[in-house]
Amino acid sequence: MGIKGRRALICAGSKGLGRGCAEALAAEGVHLVLNARGHEALESTATAIREAYGVEVSTVAADVTTPSGREAILAGSGDLDILVNNAGGPPPGNWRDWDRDAFIAAFDANAYAAIALMQATVPGMCERGWGRVVNITSVSVKQPIGVLGLSNTARAALTGFVAGIARDVAKQGVAINNLLPGLHATDRTVGLDTYEASLTGESKEAVAARRCAAIPAGRYGTADEFGATCAFICSEHAGFMVGQNILLDGGGFNSTL
Ligand code: NAP
Repeated sequence: MGIKGRRALICAGSKGLGRGCAEALAAEGVHLVLNARGHEALESTATAIREAYGVEVSTVAADVTTPSGREAILAGSGDLDILVNNAGGPPPGNWRDWDRDAFIAAFDANAYAAIALMQATVPGMCERGWGRVVNITSVSVKQPIGVLGLSNTARAALTGFVAGIARDVAKQGVAINNLLPGLHATDRTVGLDTYEASLTGESKEAVAARRCAAIPAGRYGTADEFGATCAFICSEHAGFMVGQNILLDGGGFNSTL
């Protein structure tokens, strides 16, 4: 992929899709700064990646959605070539119940955290003439998910911001894109299956089987294949991919274009 020896920050990377991205970049010889809140899973993922791929992995246990958390992450990062923005998704619920605090929390987590980290790191990438940013957003940007209105709203804001900034920095060798997961087999999806089961009275396994059956690929995606796509978007080959929203959903979004 032409990125051996580059340095990447992976936010929210101890599990799930973030970990998939971390593993795939490490497999390409990229040194990592790995972030998540929980110390134990973070250290165990970092150890596994160091042992498997022989790259440097430093860790910062911090909440990426807070200013102090981002300060700690940036202090432990140094000059970065690659930034993968990610955070936990907002809770599901009923749109009638969400107040201003709920929207602000979703905006902080799923829009502003990524915006602030781009503001902090992209100018340095521009000066050095090379950079890649992947923002993990959601299929909810293209196809609203009823119970995830907080996600629909916050991620639309980030998508709008990225559309502008990506064109502004492309000439300086920095490519910024969004990666949109449909349903993937992670803890987050188990949580959402469980929530839906609580609404419909089905078991969570029955919900998962029904949701898989509705995906043309007939299954949930994996963190490994998500990570492999992220690594390609961060690669030397992807410099002409600018401001795109790449959907990974097994064909679930039904459209011709
Ligand atoms: P996941 O399996 O639950 O993993 C979440 C990861 O993020 C963990 O490593 C977690 O570690 C870390 N994390 C959560 N909140 C954090 C915070 N505030 N600061 C730092 N780290 C944090 O989730 P996932 O499925 O990988 O989802 C990743 C993102 O993609 C989410 O925003 C989700 O909504 C979105 N998404 C996922 C799917 C899907 O099917 N999986 C579909 C569409 C969108 P700690 O808890 O220890 O911090």
